[in-house]
Amino acid sequence: MIVVLAGGVGAARFLQGLTRLLDSERLVIVANTGDDLEVYGLHVSPDLDTLVYTLAGIVDEEKGWGLKGDTFNFLEMMGEYGQETWFRIGDRDLTTHVLRTSLLRRNLSLTEVTRELCRHLKIQHEILPMTDDPVRTVMHTDEGVLDFQEYFVKRRFEVEVKNVVFIGSESARPNPDVLEAITESNGIILAPSNPIVSIGCILSIQGIREAIGKSRARKVAISPLISGKPVRGPADRIMRGLGIEPSALGIASIYKGLINTLVIDKEDSHFEDAVQKLGMEIIVTETRMDTLEAKIKLAELVLRALRR
Ligand code: GDP
Ligand code: CA
Repeated sequence: MIVVLAGGVGAARFLQGLTRLLDSERLVIVANTGDDLEVYGLHVSPDLDTLVYTLAGIVDEEKGWGLKGDTFNFLEMMGEYGQETWFRIGDRDLTTHVLRTSLLRRNLSLTEVTRELCRHLKIQHEILPMTDDPVRTVMHTDEGVLDFQEYFVKRRFEVEVKNVVFIGSESARPNPDVLEAITESNGIILAPSNPIVSIGCILSIQGIREAIGKSRARKVAISPLISGKPVRGPADRIMRGLGIEPSALGIASIYKGLINTLVIDKEDSHFEDAVQKLGMEIIVTETRMDTLEAKIKLAELVLRALRR
């Protein structure tokens, strides 16, 4: 069994490859829920939705989130009512949030709700929220304290980050199915996701970090940075804000002691020696996942690294 720690877009793209190589008995996906928020009274789980929509083949590939060909009539009407509309919710996308919220109100857990959504969208692989308890990522910035989506979507990550806090992570109980999967796993993959707000948030749940630390399985991470730049998103800015060099070496320093192997991009080959000195193996390869073939190739290489 292989366990993948996943954020949103970067993880989803990697999983498009990996799910073609591993059947559902051999793969468990652990999703970040620190980005979750309430919009118009609805529970929105952006990373879960990106994973679900992508694996169901209905994601808007260009944006990386939301549904292909969605319309925005609902949001437009909200605007007419003078409501804030910076968090984009498409009309069909809205269905997911309405259904999730109504099932949660009927006392289903987020894990059960996600399972239900996946069943109807015919997703074979298990996608587990890291916890069913609320954890909220909060950004301390030069403009004050912002909820993650306020920082990410409303402010378009233009403000300077000083600190990142995962509110609730100390008391959040790890999803028991996640702990079981980690214990049974013979390979753990840290997807090419944001190392602070995606992977870092999952690892902020003490029980999950401990279970990964205790596990004898091999652990491989893929760098989300190429030549010091994220393919999209604020990973470099957040790292810099926390005093971590935004580079393959910076990624290695974050995951030091936790992983056996780091996969970095061929554009970053000059970091090979420095990364090895941090006590991990390094694999240099093409990590840009522009095509399905590239995604599968990267997934194959990671699976090989887990078997070493
Ligand atoms: P979010 O929660 O939707 O922001 O997504 P994630 O945290 O999963 O992923 C964001 C990260 O994915 C960014 O830092 C990107 O650089 C990374 N990413 C996206 N596409 C690729 C790719 O093709 N290759 C690599 N190496 N990283 C990617
Ligand atoms: Ca996210």
